[in-house]
Amino acid sequence: MAELMKLQVICPDRVFYDGEVSMVELNTTEGEIGIYPRHIPLTCIIAPGILTITEKSGLKNAALHSGFVQILPDKVTVMAEVAEWPDEIDLGRAEAAKGRAEDRIKGKDSKTDIARAETALQRAIARINVIK
Ligand code: ATP
Repeated sequence: MAELMKLQVICPDRVFYDGEVSMVELNTTEGEIGIYPRHIPLTCIIAPGILTITEKSGLKNAALHSGFVQILPDKVTVMAEVAEWPDEIDLGRAEAAKGRAEDRIKGKDSKTDIARAETALQRAIARINVIK
């Protein structure tokens, strides 16, 4: 049987997830990471992407946009600004946000904050991918 560790995902307005898991995958500013029990202690900054939680009974996916993660050998704690389950995501809104961000990036207007547009694009893509 796979070894388990505790996972908590805390958002400002709710405890998004609290349970025992055998693996967690998420995106960080350093790239995607997969975390198993007994991982070396580490703290990372979260980048927009898909959070994949492997439980005894199967996989759960969510969109996770920003925050940080503290990894300890027996516990992973995610302090998230925004996390969403697939049934909470409005696909049309995410597609509209993706279009706006792409237009801003393509427009190359000197007043555009490109980094902000790129992060908005990543958030929209994470939302779309978690549904599809
Ligand atoms: P938008 O431009 O559509 O507001 P955004 O990426 O700028 O998208 P965020 O700042 O990440 O939005 O989120 C603001 C709030 O709106 C959060 O509570 C988030 O969960 C919610 N939200 C944003 N996009 C969606 C969506 N497509 N479906 C459901 N909730 C969303």
